[in-house]
Amino acid sequence: MSSPQGRFAAGAAVLDGHVLVASEAWGKQLFLGFADPARPAAGTTERPDDVRWLRVHLGLYGAWTFAGDGSTAVVHAIGAPRRRIGERETVPAGPGAAAAVGPDDAWSPPPPRGAVRVRLVGAHAVADLTGPTACEVVTGEEKRAVENRLGPDPIRDAAPAEGDPREEFVTAVRRSRSPVGLLLMNQDVVAGVGNIYRAESLFRARLDPMRPGRDVPGEDLRALWDDLVVLMRDGTRTGAIVTTRPEDRDGPSTGDGPPDDADGPPGRRRVRQNTDDAPDAVPADEAFYVYHRDGLPCRVCGTPVLLKELAGRNLYWCGVCQA
Ligand SMILES: [Zn+2]
Repeated sequence: MSSPQGRFAAGAAVLDGHVLVASEAWGKQLFLGFADPARPAAGTTERPDDVRWLRVHLGLYGAWTFAGDGSTAVVHAIGAPRRRIGERETVPAGPGAAAAVGPDDAWSPPPPRGAVRVRLVGAHAVADLTGPTACEVVTGEEKRAVENRLGPDPIRDAAPAEGDPREEFVTAVRRSRSPVGLLLMNQDVVAGVGNIYRAESLFRARLDPMRPGRDVPGEDLRALWDDLVVLMRDGTRTGAIVTTRPEDRDGPSTGDGPPDDADGPPGRRRVRQNTDDAPDAVPADEAFYVYHRDGLPCRVCGTPVLLKELAGRNLYWCGVCQA
């Protein structure tokens, strides 16, 4: 492990030479467990405290970018959309490909691109972390302290002793008078829901984002949770967020919107996804009901989609469907 950018040099030095023995996620927190291969039984259940954890939160701009020697299929990136290192989903990939084969046929990773906070190098692949909100080395105890503050995660397999995560979510929402659109972004209430899933799940549930949590019927919240499980598992599987049902899409894309980092008129910004180049992926401008669609007609009722700021982030909703 190294920190080509230098900002994580001390942490990387602690874990350098260690072996990745575990990978866990809770909401937006990723924990990678590393053990010293020189210590017997390191990383096993007998010696769990030998594991040091790399805690990473990607935030809005963080991303992992991957490359390999071709012996393993790797996705090109997760997190904020990144340009591909090569030209195909797997590497090596032709012109500009990451893999470089040295004179002794040993694979060597490509040079880091941009400000790489952490580089993990294995025998056949490399992972580069850029722009994370959080990146630190923690002990098992510190990891548990972070987890104890988090609400239930819709796509985490909770241990039976942890209780029913869905009921935990329902209870947390219904004990609050805050708007449900605010509570969905509170990681103590539900872990892992971001701005897209907030807007889209509330639309699919036809719930008014400003409705106080305690006034939302429990059965509606259970349905909302179940929908989040489906949507977020699908996002994990495909690497892109698609919440529209096929019958609610427009059909062929006009493709006339500027990229989302350009100052286009409201509602015409595109949302980049890692699957943008995949021929059979749902186009980004067909993927959502309301997210980034302010001013455009609601896909269901035709009323212009509304926009307001809530919890420091833009909230999109339909004032008719979600009345
Ligand atoms: Zn509508």
